[in-house]
Amino acid sequence: MSEPTPMLRQYLDLKKKYPGTILFFRLGDFYEMFNEDAEIGAKELDITLTARQKKSDKPIPMCGVPHHAASSYIAKLVRKGYRVAICEQTEDAAPGKKLVKRDVVRVITPGTAIDEQLLEKTEPVFLASISGSGGSYGLAYLELSTGEFTALEFDGTNAWGAVVSDLETMSPKELLYPFSLKPLVESQFGRSESGSGLAESLFEDTFTLRNTSLTTTQLTDSTYDIGSANDLLSEHFEVRDLAGFGLDGKANAVSAAGACLQYALDTQKASVSHISSVSLIETKGHMVLDALTIRNLELLKGNDGAGRNSLLGILNETVTSMGARTLRSWILRPSIRISEINARKQAVSELSDAMLRDQLRFHLKKVSDLERLIGRVNLGKANPRDLVSIADSLAEIPFLKGFLGDSRANLLRMLRDNIDEHASLCRLISSSIIEDPPVNTADGGFIREGYSPELDEIRLVAGNAKRTIAGFEKDAREETGISSLHIKFNNVFGYFIEVSKANLAKVPEHYERRQTLTNSERFTTPKLKQWEAQVLGAEEKIKAIESELFSKIISTIAVETQKLQKTAYALANLDVLASLAETAVSRGYIEPDVHEGDDLMIKNGRHPVVEAVSDEPFIPNDLSMNNSTDRLLIITGANMGGKSTVLRQAALIQILAQIGSFVPATNARLPITDRIWTRVGASDDLSSGRSTFMVEMTETAMILHNATPKSLILLDEIGRGTSTFDGLAIAWAVAEYLHDSPEHSAKTLFATHYHELTELAEKLKGARNYQISAKEIDGKVVFLHKLKAGKASQSYGIAVAKLAGLPAETIQRAKEVLKTLEEFELAVFSDAAHIEKGMKAAAANSATTSAAAQVSLFAISNEALIDELRETNTDS
Ligand code: ATP
Repeated sequence: MSEPTPMLRQYLDLKKKYPGTILFFRLGDFYEMFNEDAEIGAKELDITLTARQKKSDKPIPMCGVPHHAASSYIAKLVRKGYRVAICEQTEDAAPGKKLVKRDVVRVITPGTAIDEQLLEKTEPVFLASISGSGGSYGLAYLELSTGEFTALEFDGTNAWGAVVSDLETMSPKELLYPFSLKPLVESQFGRSESGSGLAESLFEDTFTLRNTSLTTTQLTDSTYDIGSANDLLSEHFEVRDLAGFGLDGKANAVSAAGACLQYALDTQKASVSHISSVSLIETKGHMVLDALTIRNLELLKGNDGAGRNSLLGILNETVTSMGARTLRSWILRPSIRISEINARKQAVSELSDAMLRDQLRFHLKKVSDLERLIGRVNLGKANPRDLVSIADSLAEIPFLKGFLGDSRANLLRMLRDNIDEHASLCRLISSSIIEDPPVNTADGGFIREGYSPELDEIRLVAGNAKRTIAGFEKDAREETGISSLHIKFNNVFGYFIEVSKANLAKVPEHYERRQTLTNSERFTTPKLKQWEAQVLGAEEKIKAIESELFSKIISTIAVETQKLQKTAYALANLDVLASLAETAVSRGYIEPDVHEGDDLMIKNGRHPVVEAVSDEPFIPNDLSMNNSTDRLLIITGANMGGKSTVLRQAALIQILAQIGSFVPATNARLPITDRIWTRVGASDDLSSGRSTFMVEMTETAMILHNATPKSLILLDEIGRGTSTFDGLAIAWAVAEYLHDSPEHSAKTLFATHYHELTELAEKLKGARNYQISAKEIDGKVVFLHKLKAGKASQSYGIAVAKLAGLPAETIQRAKEVLKTLEEFELAVFSDAAHIEKGMKAAAANSATTSAAAQVSLFAISNEALIDELRETNTDS
């Protein structure tokens, strides 16, 4: 094979340094991709695949995108999970020089995206990093656009499960892991099924995490070395040790965070000094909501996949993107610290004052995304318009501080004190940058007159020269007698005199021809050239001075990074509190009493989303629970009665209270809950080879193993995915276990159509029966949606099926079959009364909570009866 050309050698060398990336290789006005990259690029970006050295025996596949439009192509690739390395020319091409130097200036990956095209305003983009072994793990999350950096440690039984659950909750876009964790990461997340064959061979480590697309990036074990991680973090934060961040002795968290920071540095190749601290998050320091619960309770997205019909959608009245992201993070990690909850509630209460709230929100609305703007400043991405946005935002601060002047709520006072006016920065930006600057710094023209005497002087020179050139036009017209003669400018030819073809005869001899067009010719003169050199020289200088001044301004702002971040953080929090108050007032929420005890009392509670989106009036419900007499509520009632709604509304009210919000009720007294568990509905997880029933049982097992007396469990049907008796047996045993287990006995709301389970509630001392009532009037079922004590007598399943539009003959037939079944059941029961007896025996025995009691429900004596039932052709 022939030797590669020098340029291709340069390409191949760089490619070797950046494995696992698509290399965008700058050639003039294009970014080119070669070989396998070109094949992927052409396919994924839908662009033409060509070849270099076409005539050779080994043509090199190639495709390219214009550099000015590259960002949208890069975004497209990164959104698909690829990493893109941007290679630029790092020196100017000089005449006679064959090969200019080139280097990779940045690597853009799914977890390190900072470009606007890759960012959602109201959602964070997390890069996660995991470390550890042998049952003890560290996890770090970095949001590069804002610099938010957190770390966690997981120890004890099922530490890996907790890691996975946390990852699912936070849904990072990219996960870094050391080579040593490869088997665990692979077995947990599985190989991606979605990538093309090509993509897989290049990015061996791109996986899919459940339904979320997650790029996983394997790093060397040495990147995770604890000593190096410790040194890197200490050096970056300019501290002697990491104790101040709570990371003392947290080796796994340190190692995960160190690798995360190293990756940020390696990909950005820029100062990431806006990552100004890392905070340790206590894994038990907040209410835990796993991905399943987040989905089941529709916290971030509604059933339709849209954000509007979710808790966040209903609650979000924030007026800044920072506020929206903060509210989202509060919902994902509600507090378990009563002091924090009360402080937020107190602030919300004060902000219920319409005048105060409106004034604050009016000014907050004018605040831009300071968190991300500060990030852009530190990542060398800020443009003049960004600086004006910073100044305009800061200009609102004196008003905001003024309105918070006599706050009574401690939290509001604290936020006010943390908001700095940054007066000197404001002055710097407004005195240096023009009001409506261009986005691009390359052409200059954005530094304000009066800011730099040197710049003003050169601008004067350039201005004079331009005016002189403009004056030439008049002189030239007079000299030549060509009234249509024009002096024009373009980037290729500079200044020139344009004469139409019809007037060419009048052109003087000293005019030098520059270009011939269809209808005109272009000329220059020695005098024009001389002034042109003055203008162009001055303009070059102007650009250089402006660029230097801009860098200085950026550095001055960057020095203030931490103070600005503190202000941004306080503004985001203020926005969330004002948003909670706005929702509370507009939707009629009340302040809950959150306490350290175990009783839960909700008076006239409403489901925040159903009440907001439904056309029908919402019927409020009361709920009362505690950990002794009312810890297991078995809820029966008609299909469509409102069982699921009442379950979910209890959980949502609990979450709202723990984020510090008011709640939809007329009165509420709520305990601190450590975790909400949900087992709701049925879904297959075919990709991991689990059937509907298997998924249901796995989720149930998780709950039974991990719930604590401080948890709240919602079980919306259990055991529906198998035969009636198996299902009932499982549901019965699960309910008993939750009631009896001293460590796992959590407050449980159990909605079921197994009416047999109501027997349990009559026997277990901490269980209660509740029903959601419905009535049948003239063959039509009327839903009352009212929760009350007692057990329901029927499910009205056929009535609901009729409402759903099942064919009349099917409904008729179902009624007949039901009648036969009921008669058969009665006959069996009155004859042998086996099942009833069995149930009662089990219920009685369960009161003594012995393991044997559970067995008695399906004691051997019932087996014959069960077999008989199974073999019965019910249709006949
Ligand atoms: P199924 O047993 O069939 O699953 P269910 O008892 O769980 O039904 P839900 O899904 O909770 O019933 O409620 C059915 C519909 O009834 C809801 O979509 C909602 O529109 C309405 N609904 C439920 N509760 C109320 C209420 N308290 N006030 C007004 N409408 C309600």
